[in-house]
Amino acid sequence: MLGDEAVARAAEAAAGHSSERIIDTSSGRDDGLNKCPRCGSTEIQYSLTAKALVCSYCRHSWNEDIAEQRFGLDSSIAELRGHTMASGTADVREDLTTVTLKCQGCGAEIVLNVDQQMQARCHWCRQTLSINSQIPNGAVPDAVLPFLLTREEAVERIDAFAGKRKTFALGRFTQEFVPENVMGVYIPYLVVDGNMHAVLRGTGEVTTREYTVRRRVGKDNYVTETYYDADVYAVQRAFDLLVDDLTVESASRFDADENEEATNNILNAVQPYDTENAVTYNSNYLKGFTSERRDLNVRDVDAEVEDKFLAIARAKATPTISRYDRGVRWKEEGVAVHGTRWVSIYVPVWLYSYADSAKGEGALTHYIAVNGRTGTTMGSVPVSHPKIFAASCAAGAVAAVVGALAGLAYMFF
Ligand SMILES: [Zn+2]
Ligand SMILES: [Zn+2]
Repeated sequence: MLGDEAVARAAEAAAGHSSERIIDTSSGRDDGLNKCPRCGSTEIQYSLTAKALVCSYCRHSWNEDIAEQRFGLDSSIAELRGHTMASGTADVREDLTTVTLKCQGCGAEIVLNVDQQMQARCHWCRQTLSINSQIPNGAVPDAVLPFLLTREEAVERIDAFAGKRKTFALGRFTQEFVPENVMGVYIPYLVVDGNMHAVLRGTGEVTTREYTVRRRVGKDNYVTETYYDADVYAVQRAFDLLVDDLTVESASRFDADENEEATNNILNAVQPYDTENAVTYNSNYLKGFTSERRDLNVRDVDAEVEDKFLAIARAKATPTISRYDRGVRWKEEGVAVHGTRWVSIYVPVWLYSYADSAKGEGALTHYIAVNGRTGTTMGSVPVSHPKIFAASCAAGAVAAVVGALAGLAYMFF
């Protein structure tokens, strides 16, 4: 069969190209001084007003190059063979906790705890020293998607989000809302492109006749039953598939347990991100924000990525099977991956967290997240049970809601 040959060919091709190609995404700067290109100062900060890096001395403002273009990460996906990895996707080394930086200003050696920080001030000459290279500790991505939304804009979004749900929200939640607790966080993602051949095989049914039969049951009773006649076909779809910029979370805490799953769902819900606009890493983008380190490696998310590739393949095949009015059931499905390309990236999120003060230590934490690029907002708001009960009484849906209340700790909207 056509599909078999194609899959065999693809598998062979993939095996022949199993070697990895590494694309070096380092800035070319040594670790240490990260200077303003105009005046040489190291006092640089990302400004949300200018939406650019701004030098505190000469006010020069600029952004780093778009990473895809700078490193050729946007070359044709159809030509990908084997694994192409940007250098920031290297396996995370847990033991790498400190780096010694030599200050190019005065020659002093400064030890930096890279678990906690990417920058430190030289205590002799007061200049800022930065980690400028892709050290493999999960804290240095290939590219950064800078914040566009200001804190004030994020607070407005969160206020509006919580406000709309005031009817159900816990009184304390709305009273205790503290805009200062809204934090700018960079969340790590792996972005993957894939060049593959997909094959789906199964059976599809087409109705040929539909009729009813009246059947006698017992002495005087009749029942009417509907029958279908259908032709059953073997269905196969085989096609080349190119996937561009699939994003997967690369911090394990987001799928750790039930509690954290809530965060994970919320972060998924504020996607997508315009990852194609991410700029080359410069530690000054992270100043004033917190960031979550990547602790998952490419092989840790490989299975998840393959599942997503399959789901995309199924969706792609759907418009081609509409003639099977009684549906198609895929029994075998697979993708032969010719090539992938991996890039690690930080995306911006404004995050508000709230733990119910009345419930003390270990209380479920609620989050409202705002996409730092688009403003898309999603969250879980602690629910006041009597308020839901009252509202549902009014709506006349008591039974259903009471049933659902038993296990209800939080609600997604
Ligand atoms: Zn300057
Ligand atoms: Zn120094």
